[in-house]
Amino acid sequence: MFRWLLLASLVMSTAGAAETPPIAIVIHGGAGTILKSEMTAEKEADIRAKLEQSIKAGHQVLQDGGSSLDAVTTAIRILEDSPLFNAGKGAVFNAIGQNELDASIMDGETLNAGAVAGVKTIKNPIDLARTVMTHSPHVLLVGDGAEEFAKNQGIEQVDPRYFHTERRLRQLQKIQAKEKLRAEYRDSWFSTVGAVALDKAGNLAAGTSTGGTANKRWGRVGDSPIIGAGTYANNQSCGVSATGHGEYFIRAVVAYSICARMQFENLSLQQAAARVVKQELVEMGGSGGVIALDKDGEVAMVFNTPGMYRAAIGRDGTLQIKIYQD
Ligand code: ASP
Repeated sequence: MFRWLLLASLVMSTAGAAETPPIAIVIHGGAGTILKSEMTAEKEADIRAKLEQSIKAGHQVLQDGGSSLDAVTTAIRILEDSPLFNAGKGAVFNAIGQNELDASIMDGETLNAGAVAGVKTIKNPIDLARTVMTHSPHVLLVGDGAEEFAKNQGIEQVDPRYFHTERRLRQLQKIQAKEKLRAEYRDSWFSTVGAVALDKAGNLAAGTSTGGTANKRWGRVGDSPIIGAGTYANNQSCGVSATGHGEYFIRAVVAYSICARMQFENLSLQQAAARVVKQELVEMGGSGGVIALDKDGEVAMVFNTPGMYRAAIGRDGTLQIKIYQD
């Protein structure tokens, strides 16, 4: 009798364990020429701490049974509120000293998506992107139209001076003074933010938020708010958020291409991400990276630059936070 009970409870607990759906989350804080030699211990510690705060908050949402969309917005909002990253508060300046912000989000279950570009007063552009998805029949709103929509929807707006940080102003002045646009351009875009999550219901979501590229021409829009380029999610394959030289990421349709290669070519997530980021983009001359998750909670963090700020909590619950090629 006792042996039977023991066996029955063992079988039940194994069945229970097998049924527990995997949850996972991965975030990035931008890719680029991030060199250990140019990093101070203090800055590195600050960045790691903020990545940890963001990913743990997103993971908590998933653990509590929340949706991948909520996990993604929660994680991104924390990075947007930090001056350390090129999104929200820490956004770079364009060539005429303004901060124009872009963001997008996609729901892998329904393939619904929302995005905003060129907004100047939105404290958390990821929230506005999500509201475009849920409260409008559109996918992408830009500039004044997006700002007015935000007002109607009660999305928090701030004075544009909120985004004026000393550090970004010095960066712009340095780039402009040097007038070596091409060379400087490469160093000017890292620290965009993004997140991809898988929830208990098996739904993937991905989001990206950025100030774009420093010293960009006003009105320039990169890949981050373009569904398929900077952000993509489809429960049939994967979720992706990208960071890098946006013009190349748009032309290579990076995020969609990774998911499509999984779905139609049967590549693994890692293989598909490596094919696009380390092969196709490199051949084109486009630098940057991606974070991605597939429907089984497999994580990929692939980049062709010296570094990418990134963190993941995979299906096994282990936290990793990394910056360089290690
Ligand atoms: N991809 C972004 C853009 O081109 C920049 C970045 O990822 O840092 O706007």
